[in-house]
Parts: sequence; C-alpha cells; structure tokens
Amino acid sequence: MNIAVIGCGYVGLVTGACLAEMGNNVTCIDSDSQKVAQLRAGQVPFFEPGLESMVQGNVQRQRLCFATEPGPAIAAAAVVFIAVGTPALAHGGADTRQVFEAAETVGRHMQPDCIVASKSTAPVGTAERIRSILDRAARQRSMTSAHEVVANPEFLREGSAVQDFMRPDRVVLGVQDTGAERLMRGLYAPFVHSHEQLLVMSLRDAELTKYAANAMLATRISFMNEMARLCDALGVDVEQLRRGIGSDARIGQKYLNAGCGYGGSCFPKDVRALLDMGLQARTDLDILAAVAHVNEVQKQWAAGVIAGRFGHRLQGRRFAVWGLSFKPGTDDLREAPALAVISDLLTAGARVSAHDPVAMPRALREWPQQWFESGALQLAVNPLDAVEGADALVLMTEWKLFRAPDFGAIRRSMRGRLIVDGRNQYDPAQLRNLGFDYVGVGRGARDAMPETSAETTLAA
Ligand code: NAD
Repeated sequence: MNIAVIGCGYVGLVTGACLAEMGNNVTCIDSDSQKVAQLRAGQVPFFEPGLESMVQGNVQRQRLCFATEPGPAIAAAAVVFIAVGTPALAHGGADTRQVFEAAETVGRHMQPDCIVASKSTAPVGTAERIRSILDRAARQRSMTSAHEVVANPEFLREGSAVQDFMRPDRVVLGVQDTGAERLMRGLYAPFVHSHEQLLVMSLRDAELTKYAANAMLATRISFMNEMARLCDALGVDVEQLRRGIGSDARIGQKYLNAGCGYGGSCFPKDVRALLDMGLQARTDLDILAAVAHVNEVQKQWAAGVIAGRFGHRLQGRRFAVWGLSFKPGTDDLREAPALAVISDLLTAGARVSAHDPVAMPRALREWPQQWFESGALQLAVNPLDAVEGADALVLMTEWKLFRAPDFGAIRRSMRGRLIVDGRNQYDPAQLRNLGFDYVGVGRGARDAMPETSAETTLAA
C-alpha cells in the first residue's frame, strides 16, 4: 500500500519505518529540510534504539523515502498519517496548529478516496476539524471525494518505540466509516496477534482515550511520589510499599516507582491539555490538577535535599548530576527533571558536572548556552569524571550505566559524601555502610528528610 506520513519525529518516523518493514511503500514528509537531508543520508536525528537500522534497511529495499515536498507522496497515498507535534500553549491547552496545517496540505494534494489518520495527540474534536478542512478542500478542487478521517492515537514509548509499534498492546481506531475501518484493520493486521487488540470506537472516544491513558500513568507516578513524602515523614520505605501494593493483581507493578518527577514530551503536556479540555467543557478535573501540582513540587525534590544539607546559597559548591534525558533509552530532554535540578543548582551559585550516555550533544544544542560558556555546567566524558571533587552526586536518570558503579572509586573521587538518588536505584544500607550519606525518594530516612516544598527550593 502507498502511505505518506507527515512529520518525521519520534512518532512519524517510527510509524513510517515499521509500516515499510511490513512491505508498504512509505514516504515520510517533514518541513524541516535539515532533518530530511539527515534521513536521506541514513541518519536518524534522535536516539531511538533499533530505529536507524530499520530505516536504513527499508531505504535500501526502496520501501521508505523522505521528502520535504508533500505533493507527490500525498497524491499517491491510500493512507496519509499526520504525526506532527502538538506542544503546549502558554495556558496549557494543546497547540493544534501543526495538525491543521498538515490537514490543509493533505487537502491540496489528496486523491479522492484517501484516508487521513491522525496519530498526533490532539484534543477531542480535532479529527472532526480535520474532516471539515478536507471537505472544504475537496469542494474547492471540485472533487467528488470519499475521503475519510481516522483518529489513530499512538501509544509508543520513547526508548522502546520500535518494539511498541511492532507489538502493540492495542491499536485504537476512531472511525466513522466501515470502509476506512476495513482498510485500517488490514494495515495493522501484521502488527497484532488477535482482533481484540484492535479497538474500534468513535473519533471522539479515540481522542480522549489517548489523553486518559497518559493521565492515568501520570496519576500513578504522582500518587507514589505523594506516598513517598508520607513514607519519609513516617519512617516507611516506599520500595516496600511498592512491592506490597504492586503484587495485588488489581493494581499491578508498573508505573509505581517513586522518583524525582515525570517529564518528557507527553505526560506533562498531555495532563495540562486534558486540564484545559476540562476547563473548556466546564468540568472540574481535581485529581488531574493535583497530579500536575504534585509533579511540579516533585521536580524540586533533589534541589530540596541539597538545600537541606548545604543551605540555599551554593557558591563554591560543586555537584555531579548523572542522567539528563527524561528517562533512559532516549536523548529527549523535553521537560526533563534533570533540567529543573540543574537550573536550580546553577541559580543558587553552584557548579555542576553532568554525564549522560546519549543526551549530552542534545543538551549542548538545546540548553542555555551561557551555562556552558561560563563553565557553570560542564559535561563529563564519563560518570566518574563527573563526580570528581563533587559535594554530592545526584542521580536523575536510571540509565543501566549508573546501576552498579564503582562506589569505592566514587567515594575517593568526591569531596563530599551525599548521594541523592532520584530514581531509587541504590540500596540505602549498602551505601551507608560504604560511608555515604544516602537519600532516596521515600526511603524512610527521617533523619535525611529533604525540604520539598516550593518555598524551600534553592535561591540565589
Ligand atoms: P516531534 O516534535 O518529534 O516531531 C514532529 C515533526 O513534525 C517535526 O519533525 C516537525 O518538523 C514536523 N512537522 C511539523 N509540522 C509539519 C508540517 N506541516 N509538514 C511536515 N512536517 C511537519 O513530535 P513527536 O514526539 O513525534 O510527537 C508527534 C505527536 O505524537 C504529538 O502529538 C505527540 O504528543 C504524539 N505522541 C508522541 C509520543 C512520543 O513518545 N514522542 C508518543 C505518543 C504520541
């Protein structure tokens, strides 16, 4: 089948590569000519395990190509996927301008019975608006068009995106027309093992399902972070709590890790967009408001621990930060908790030396240049170099590389002995035996209680 995908980001490129892998002819379109040039040269512009080799293989087999000019690929496509960004607007609502711009482009070039499937996470009603744009375009082109719109939200996770697309838990299809449903079922048949994994519903149902899924996961994280605060106050270990509740089949193990807050390109913006949808629909979403608030406070947790130990003025202090990306397996820095803690530490006058196995080049490109130019933030070539002379080590991203480091060497290299474990990766007893002052999230160390409230974060 001929397919066009608009947007060569995480979602568009993975969608395009995986559909090509199953034998379709795919053209991925992006308005960013630099990105397209890179892709044509066989390079994926971001880190995503397994994606580059899949892209290269399918380009070689001539099933996948890249374009900045959308016309020819859209005119030849039976299905056009829209996978452009929907970032947050200042008030929190989703900015759908890229989606509608892409829909206008499709309208100018589509063939009469084209199916337009939106993969972008966009508010309820967006697919209907895409449909109106296409209807108007068809009228302007005097086409008797039988085009259809499908809301096909994407659930892949960065870091395991290829695997998630190739073997999805489920595929959600918001459809209005049985022909479109049949075609989309056929397209996804190679990816699912049973019919039950294809969930067919209305356009609006599908759109809200995507937001509700991310909001549920964010809720579990904020719930555990709130429990972690209580654990610290009561001398309870949140890791025991996690084991105790996660083994209940009704609750399950996943997304129950307390930590230094969720980040990334989806959870924060999707929770905010859902809150905005509630506002527009005059419906209070109290739980979600609390989820977002708890997370904002939690992102200040590590800086709060440091303020508790060293005070609020950190001139002359030096801190090591391990991990910059919002989670392991990606170089995505959008809303990364590491950015919040580094920003707080630098504002309070400290120097930071950081290491991340893949995200450092991107931090150099995307984070404030004055941090690097002034030498306040240095990127270390390896984890041990980062801790040299440090007053504390702060773990922000649980890359495997950081799981079992040489603590003896770390102890000898550091000036201080504080380890702030923002991802509860280490054994508190073991680290205390090694002479460290260990603070994890909700590990029940009442003596090591961090200052976590917004008022107590670091100040210059
Ligand atoms: P991204 O920012 O990585 O990529 C979007 C791409 O679209 C960019 O390369 C941009 O240049 C291109 N683009 C924008 N407007 C265009 C246009 N008119 N024509 C051609 N190209 C255009 O975004 P992403 O992370 O892939 O996310 C895309 C959508 O999928 C968002 O709505 C997001 O919320 C959703 N989503 C993302 C993930 C994820 O893990 N990143 C997971 C599920 C859903």
